Amino acid sequence: MASITFDRIDKIYPNNFEAIHQLSLDVEDGEFLVLVGPSGCGKSTALRMVAGLEEISSGVLQIGDRVVNDVEPKKRDIAMVFQNYALYPQMTVRENIGFALKMAKMPKQEISRLVEDTARMLELTEQLDKKPGLLSGGQRQRVAMGRAIVRKPVAFLMDEPLSNLDAKLRVQMRAEISRLQRQLGVTTIYVTHDQVEAMTMGDRVAVLKDGYLQQIDTPQNLYDRPVNVFVAAFIGSPSMNLYEAELRGDRLQLGSHQLALPQSSFERRPALQGYNGRRVVVGVRPEDLEDASHAAATASGATITSKVELTESLGSEIVAHFKLDATRVDPGNPDAADDISGSAVARFDPRSSCRAGEAVDIAVTVDNFHFFDIDDHTAIWD
Ligand code: ATP
Repeated sequence: MASITFDRIDKIYPNNFEAIHQLSLDVEDGEFLVLVGPSGCGKSTALRMVAGLEEISSGVLQIGDRVVNDVEPKKRDIAMVFQNYALYPQMTVRENIGFALKMAKMPKQEISRLVEDTARMLELTEQLDKKPGLLSGGQRQRVAMGRAIVRKPVAFLMDEPLSNLDAKLRVQMRAEISRLQRQLGVTTIYVTHDQVEAMTMGDRVAVLKDGYLQQIDTPQNLYDRPVNVFVAAFIGSPSMNLYEAELRGDRLQLGSHQLALPQSSFERRPALQGYNGRRVVVGVRPEDLEDASHAAATASGATITSKVELTESLGSEIVAHFKLDATRVDPGNPDAADDISGSAVARFDPRSSCRAGEAVDIAVTVDNFHFFDIDDHTAIWD
């Protein structure tokens, strides 16, 4: 096992496109680190540099104590799992899993033992003599995992390994990969564009945008203390609602709505005082908007009345879209679905009787609002 350290890494492709800018991060020994961000942000490039499949333009990459910038891929002692599994179709599962060991000229008996142990761990024993064409997507995924595990590498690198699976299987494999990683304790870098995967699997999550590292933190800290508008909107589903607003003393003018900010908002974010009389970006998580007839009595008491445009009942909650006459702020995520313009998204209690087309009183937990600078979109904290 080993740590992986990026020290001011740049990647400039031969066409002069700079895909990674001054990336510095430490993946600790045994850690599960997720690299997440929208398409084209440079996640695969970063991973491929660790694997040795992409040259490093500048900076230092270390695996354990060893600088590996110029070390050949096969001498880096890492295993990679790809989205397309990259299995050999003409070989059986047994041969696929044991292939790297055979190449390393390991004795046959030893290979056999390791392959069978690995297959047992992945519940693939019954499939050992089948070819990949006869396996389900989930089983193929597990064979790909098996090939990585059997070599006992110092690190696993995984590039969107679940994206070819259907939604249900993805959830199942997500849990399985997390379990295996914990059991084996092997340092892992996992690339995905899916923030739910990032949040549920990573010990820590690194958010990238346009080749720049935005924030690296535990999933909960990313959610609670996003450093900027981009991270705030990227993490969480449905996304945080973002609007322009104006701060006037302890009042927030949000479109035509005036909301009183509790003292605790200023205590938690001392820098907010400096924004008196100025425009800010305000972020409202959908769970901080509730149908007032179902809101807890402890809520701060602020309500707004608005017309519901659309409701989506998920059983455990109702996702309600409603009009809010404030100016929305674009978080700059090219992957984000186009939202209904000028609308807000709320997560209502499933017992809410709100109907599309009808007005509803919405209780607003103002205390949980997020605030960002309107010019550079950084979070306003200390
Ligand atoms: P995706 O989720 O779509 O795979 P990604 O975040 O993994 O995206 P990369 O594949 O790392 O992104 O690509 C980062 C950027 O570098 C993209 O803008 C891409 O077009 C560019 N890029 C990738 N490979 C090359 C190359 N060989 N030459 C030039 N530009 C490249």
